[in-house]
Amino acid sequence: MSVASPRVTEARERVTTFLDRIGDLRRLTDVEFLGLRFDAGLAWVHFAEGIGGYGAAPSEQGLVDDLLAAAGCPPPRQDIAHLMIAPTIAVHGTPRQQASWLRPLFTGEEIWCQLFSEPGAGSDLASLAVRATPDGSTWRLTGEKVWSTFAHLSRWAMVLARSDPEVPKHRGLTMFCVDMQLPGVRVSPLRQMTGQAEFNQVHFDDVMIDDTARLGQIGAGWTVTLTTLMNERSNVGDGLAVMGGDFAASLEQRWIEGGDDLTRHRDELVGELVRRRVMRLLVRRGAAAAQEQTPGPDGSLNKLILGESNQDASSLLVTLAGAAGMLYPSGYAVRGDLGIDAFTSDTEDASAQERFLRTRANTIEGGTTEVMRNILGERVLGLPGEPRTDRDLAWSRVPRN
Ligand SMILES: Cc1cc2nc3c(=O)[nH]c(=O)nc-3n(C[C@H](O)[C@H](O)[C@H](O)COP(=O)(O)OP(=O)(O)OC[C@H]3O[C@@H](n4cnc5c(N)ncnc54)[C@H](O)[C@@H]3O)c2cc1C
Repeated sequence: MSVASPRVTEARERVTTFLDRIGDLRRLTDVEFLGLRFDAGLAWVHFAEGIGGYGAAPSEQGLVDDLLAAAGCPPPRQDIAHLMIAPTIAVHGTPRQQASWLRPLFTGEEIWCQLFSEPGAGSDLASLAVRATPDGSTWRLTGEKVWSTFAHLSRWAMVLARSDPEVPKHRGLTMFCVDMQLPGVRVSPLRQMTGQAEFNQVHFDDVMIDDTARLGQIGAGWTVTLTTLMNERSNVGDGLAVMGGDFAASLEQRWIEGGDDLTRHRDELVGELVRRRVMRLLVRRGAAAAQEQTPGPDGSLNKLILGESNQDASSLLVTLAGAAGMLYPSGYAVRGDLGIDAFTSDTEDASAQERFLRTRANTIEGGTTEVMRNILGERVLGLPGEPRTDRDLAWSRVPRN
């Protein structure tokens, strides 16, 4: 008979005590319940006490989530804010920032977005140009961000900006958490080829922000960014794994259904099914490693492999659909829903055609496939880096278009 570790026993006891105290769940709204869950330290269990956790190991999170789900509790939304921004605030925020931002983020009362990419800075993010100019105890924010997921719904944005153009690019950046309701913030949704408008263009026209909105030290924005990006790559990998599992089920279903088409595509289908099994093991190995430590550069491996293979699987499913695979369900291309709950198209509700189009982004979002290969080559395998001519040059002196 296996004996539960003290950590597992403590997690179980905390959940039981919490549920006993709550009593009848039906008397609470989802937001009220999630607020109480945060207060009980069961939001992000590895965070410190008082900011949604109780200092547990990250590996206890899955158990707590499962126990609460089994008791019929509403889950928090697993979005950018929950998975990437909250861990960044937990590491780099002041106690006052953590106290004011984390609870409404967890309950979903305040939606957050991550404003990093710009028209001239994506893969080479540290070259970005949005300026944060000091002005007494405030900062003046000017410039343009793009591909900003959920910015049209957000109350807050984590914004990476250039605070000093006269030092090399990585050293002149500072991170801010900006209230999206401030004068001078303009958000324009961008429609994607799926028909949805999930991301946006954001302009800052002389937006004045208080220094209390600064996350981390002046000039330390790149360090703060790395915390977010490492969490992003591992979580995008997890999201792609969920999508991958969904594709596996669809492919298996097609195998069972059989039919003339399958004779022609049998090799491809078997190849994809085998690949899915291998990937499931890879994801499990990554998840086991991630539970015991903060995400590192090797999280890029799952992101790389799953992004490419989800595209292949969705292409095969569209091919197997025959002529119908070329038709997009009517109405999608002009779909107007911009609400946060509309973005479930990666998995359960989406047609094969919609998923085929959405998976094109899988090798771009959270860092492109080429950039993942560079990270794995340089930081995991220890291969020589690309030549970098701007490393020691002041940002203002680096030529750009
Ligand atoms: C669905 C979706 C959601 C997104 N959400 C957000 C968000 O919420 N917030 C945010 O800030 N950004 C977001 N992004 C932007 C995303 O992070 C960028 O698109 C991505 O980092 C690539 O940058 P880029 O588009 O500027 O392409 P570029 O960097 O211009 O790259 C163009 C091409 O050049 C290749 N390339 C670039 N550098 C190298 C190199 N050194 N070696 C080899 N090849 C190279 C790339 O792989 C790519 O193929 C989102 C993107 C998508 C698709």
